Amino acid sequence: MNDRTALVTGANKGIGKHIASQLAAEGFTVYVGSRDVGRGQRAVEEIGGDARLLVLDVTDTDSITKAAAQVDHLDVLVNNAGISVSLTPPAEADAEEFRRTYETNVFAVVEVTNAFLAALRRSPHPRIVNISSGTGSLTWSTNPNPQFTPGNGRAAAYRSSKAALNALTVFYAQTLAEEGFKVNALAPGVRATDLTPGAAAAGGDPADGAQGAVRLALLPDEGPTGAFFSWDGTPVPW
Ligand code: NDP
Repeated sequence: MNDRTALVTGANKGIGKHIASQLAAEGFTVYVGSRDVGRGQRAVEEIGGDARLLVLDVTDTDSITKAAAQVDHLDVLVNNAGISVSLTPPAEADAEEFRRTYETNVFAVVEVTNAFLAALRRSPHPRIVNISSGTGSLTWSTNPNPQFTPGNGRAAAYRSSKAALNALTVFYAQTLAEEGFKVNALAPGVRATDLTPGAAAAGGDPADGAQGAVRLALLPDEGPTGAFFSWDGTPVPW
């Protein structure tokens, strides 16, 4: 596949920036999604290769429409932009925490994906990679942070948003399968980024988590769809 094009949302830092770098190193033209022009431009310079800034606030319909109008052809969409606003269990949560979290981690994924579907449909091998989290699994965790042990019910807004993203992954995969799409979710592992303050000690290199996304971006036509994988390729239970 030559002249392959990818978009990574929230790619100005963290795991997304590493995904963009690795895809650029694979020869992709990479749209580096960033809601902030300065931060995005700096990332583009650091990523190198054929990286291009795409100003994109995933929670802003106008921004999504303008960004989609600039992209005619897309082979890979990586829905990476995500937030975590609290660690509270649901009984202590303000519904606003849920609204804010879902706005970015769930609703935006639907709006962004749908806006870029026309460009993806022009690809012979369209791939969508949703950056989920192992904490979105209801039954599984390798997270060393006891806040996230399945069964303790904490970080409910974030974790349920990723469970919803996992469900959407399956539904997109089912509805787009006949068109050749592969739609999968990734648990990138605990990584030291701005999303996980205090995880610097426990968190691994974000570049390792990014590798899992690149693997799913490069899936062959006989590869899986509607599945959930850890960064090292291990299937993750829902
Ligand atoms: P970071 O906070 O380092 O990066 C998040 C990125 O998302 C930033 O580029 C941020 O941009 C962007 N973003 C947030 N909101 C928006 C928005 N409305 N529009 C556009 N961009 C936005 O976090 P990570 O790199 O750790 O997280 C990346 C993904 O990985 C997330 O989906 C997260 O849930 C997931 N993840 C991370 C884990 C970890 O241990 N770090 C573990 C499991 C999953 P800006 O700079 O403008 O805020």
